[in-house]
Amino acid sequence: MFMMPKKIIAQYNKLKNAFAGNNLKIKYALKALNNINILKLLKQQGAGLDAVSIYEVQLGLRAGFSASEILFTPNGVSFDEIKQAVTLGVQINIDNISILQQFGHEFGNSVPCCIRLNPHIVAGGNVHIQTGHIDSKFGISIHQLRHVIRIVEKENMLINGLHMHTGSDILDAGVFIRGAELLFDAAVNFKDLEFIDFGSGFKVAYKEDDVITDIEELGKTITERFQSFCKEYACLPERQGKELELWFEPGKFLVSEAGFLLVKVNVVKQTTATVFAGVDSGQNHLIRPMFYDAYHHIINISNPTGTPRIYTVVGNICETDTFAWDRKLEEVREGDILCIKNAGAYGYTMSNNYNLRPRPAEVLIYKNNIQLIRKRETIDDIIQNMVEVEL
Ligand SMILES: *Cc1c(COP(=O)(O)O)cnc(C)c1O
Repeated sequence: MFMMPKKIIAQYNKLKNAFAGNNLKIKYALKALNNINILKLLKQQGAGLDAVSIYEVQLGLRAGFSASEILFTPNGVSFDEIKQAVTLGVQINIDNISILQQFGHEFGNSVPCCIRLNPHIVAGGNVHIQTGHIDSKFGISIHQLRHVIRIVEKENMLINGLHMHTGSDILDAGVFIRGAELLFDAAVNFKDLEFIDFGSGFKVAYKEDDVITDIEELGKTITERFQSFCKEYACLPERQGKELELWFEPGKFLVSEAGFLLVKVNVVKQTTATVFAGVDSGQNHLIRPMFYDAYHHIINISNPTGTPRIYTVVGNICETDTFAWDRKLEEVREGDILCIKNAGAYGYTMSNNYNLRPRPAEVLIYKNNIQLIRKRETIDDIIQNMVEVEL
């Protein structure tokens, strides 16, 4: 895995500039790519973090983020894990009514929290990465807002943020705005808000002609609407003019295009119908093509001027682990290195050791330096927790 942070920084600045008219906070969703050096790099740029497990919180703290810069947005975790996060001092985001009740009962107004609402706005074309639809497990349904408010009032809770995350791949400002309006409507019920968090879902190009989120356009539309809402909200008598922050939690948008998975062709296998290029990797390293039916562009960097032919690129795992079906590639020979693009987001972080195959190394290419930032795993790394007993 090769990473080029230059692209991460460019994407970060693009987002920052598009929303410059607001009191903006960018919380990087580290589940997309969690190497500690990338976290430090984003901290240098001024980002905070969005963490979805207590372990991601711990890594964020180790990378040097202060607890207050970390938003903890888990789903379906025990109240115990939430309490650990409170002890560490991070901003809690609550995703279900049961936890909201327990949180209120335990902490009352002594610890602020954010509430994750599900506006049921469906974004993106792929059902696997939609989180806003009506039977989604994520967030508290906007239709249960009355119930939420009853709990908040009964337990005298301090709600300092509202949150939505409708899922990956938002293409047009209209979808965001529809979700935003619902959050604004909900927001007037809470007087202590410090921020509204619109989650993520910014789409990046995987194919050359992919339609991507127009960040500048989105920035203009959201900024205009957010600013007019802020005026309204700040005018609530309880507010006394306190300004709201606008938060986003991009993962894929920042890191996807910065990562390249290099694989070697072990075998070229001609069958009656197909030519397979079998590589020394598989869905154990990049699961997105098999899991999400995701397209990842591939180039043959060993033979860039070769005659294009059609290949099905497959891995070496005992599963059908196809990277690309019937793909036109510059002629592939055994030993060639293929470069799989957009491997930065949800590549390494979703990898596994199926078939006892080690995970690859991570290499950083930055400021004219090439540095190893994660060692390739060994068989000893993989089996170190096996305990051999007397049989
Ligand atoms: C995964 C996730 C994100 C990041 O999503 P991307 O599509 O990678 O930008 C943001 N917020 C929450 C709560 C998430 O679970």
